[in-house]
Amino acid sequence: MLCRRCKEKAEIYLKRHNTAFCSNCFRIYYSEQVKRNVKREKMFKPKDRILVVVSGGKDSMALWHILLKLGYNVTGMYINLGISAYSDRSQEVVEKFSQANNAPVIIKNIEKEYGFSIPALAREIRRSTCSLCGTIKRYLFNKVAQDGGFDAVATGHNLDDEAATLLGNVLSWQEGYLARQSPVLPSTHPKLVKKVKPLFTLTERENLAYVLFNGIEFIHEECPHALGASSILYKEILNKLEDESPGTKQRFLTNFYKKGRKFFEKYSEPVKLNECKICGQVTTSEICSFCRIRLMVEKKKADSILQEGDGFNL
Ligand code: SF4
Ligand code: ZN
Repeated sequence: MLCRRCKEKAEIYLKRHNTAFCSNCFRIYYSEQVKRNVKREKMFKPKDRILVVVSGGKDSMALWHILLKLGYNVTGMYINLGISAYSDRSQEVVEKFSQANNAPVIIKNIEKEYGFSIPALAREIRRSTCSLCGTIKRYLFNKVAQDGGFDAVATGHNLDDEAATLLGNVLSWQEGYLARQSPVLPSTHPKLVKKVKPLFTLTERENLAYVLFNGIEFIHEECPHALGASSILYKEILNKLEDESPGTKQRFLTNFYKKGRKFFEKYSEPVKLNECKICGQVTTSEICSFCRIRLMVEKKKADSILQEGDGFNL
């Protein structure tokens, strides 16, 4: 098979476009897709400061690399969640990339800064690890972006992620989530930074090809807590449909944006936003979820000190 652009030997076949590329022309296709997404969806302007959320996985490493290559003003941000060896290995990958590419990065370590790891705290307060992790990550990415004066937070969500989220929301008719699903989440409060997904039209396989063709190191394994997540099942189902009918995922997502989402707009009533009485970050209640978690951790620590004291007195 030959590359569609240069007619040299092709290295990747994209079934949904019925087209093949050599590695050089694939890089051009990939970068055109990202440029088009950023421009068409008005994600950010050339001089904007972008905070890129990096996990060490292929998608976020591809995003970091392509935005740097396109000349955007980009800073990476990595959070070490304290998830055993997985977190340490992914931090190593992120630090190596930052050094090799002279790319600025902000590293946060939950355990060192706040005194708990995500899995240990989830067990302690009997909450699902992923929901706790999501709350903490959302809080920190927004806070760091806002404190640092960034114009947007960019994540590596790809076409497979977005189509799986859409399928999940449709299966349970989550009207509010359907109304808000978008490659751009605009800022609705001066302390909320805009969120963007420049890779939303590129598949996991295309991101994998991009990192391999560019020799970018990435962490191959998934977070151990991702096992059993319903999004994985939705992705498998969508992959089966895609095999039978190439282009299904893209049609499902882009036609939802073009034709379907408008029917849910009435469900996206603006919620009243307050500033947290402790940290000042945006919340729908008086104290934000992050500060409530921290208060809970401090209370547990104080209780255990008191219990030890009781034992000593006895
Ligand atoms: Fe966090 Fe769950 Fe994702 Fe792991 S799989 S990074 S615990 S949200
Ligand atoms: Zn707070």
